[in-house]
Amino acid sequence: MTTPDPERHPPLHAPRKLKLATVSLAGCFGCHMSFLDLDERLLPLFELVAFDRSPLTDIKTLGHCDIGLIEGGLCNAENVHLLREFRAHCHTLVAVGACAINGGLPALRNAMDVGQILRDVYVHQTGLGAHSQVPNDPELPLPLNRVHAIHEVVHVDHVLPGCPPSADAFWELLTAIMAHRAPELGPRLMHYD
Ligand code: SF4
Repeated sequence: MTTPDPERHPPLHAPRKLKLATVSLAGCFGCHMSFLDLDERLLPLFELVAFDRSPLTDIKTLGHCDIGLIEGGLCNAENVHLLREFRAHCHTLVAVGACAINGGLPALRNAMDVGQILRDVYVHQTGLGAHSQVPNDPELPLPLNRVHAIHEVVHVDHVLPGCPPSADAFWELLTAIMAHRAPELGPRLMHYD
């Protein structure tokens, strides 16, 4: 583990621990993995931030939070429900990564009919059993006709572009929010590879 460069990563200061919640909707968890690339900077961050609901904690219920990080867009009804819950509980909501901002890769299906896609996959594809059907169980979230960006449904306070955003971009965003200033996400922090 390397020591953080104090000039590039000055110590954080905050009057109390902020509550942070994260979720992956129609995403691939790549944005969450990039967040973990903060590596040694996670230690000073954890001094100032307490995690609420997040795949990183496995907490399933959402309390009132200062910051909500949303990975992924909206591809089904459960995504919409979760997003609205985050909006209701989080003071500051951030669209993290291309999928949350514009639908990303899952939105490629928007050019096709979702019913036809399901029939092609579960009914017509070669190699399926004779009675294969499209799954239709109340436990399964209802697919939306189109994949939507999250700003189409709720107000978003900040966007963190990239696929995924770099760890440095996460750091800049979180330290800026804690310092009550606008994040400075210049070209150095933008990654689309
Ligand atoms: Fe995955 Fe990229 Fe979408 Fe993040 S933006 S969830 S890394 S595909």
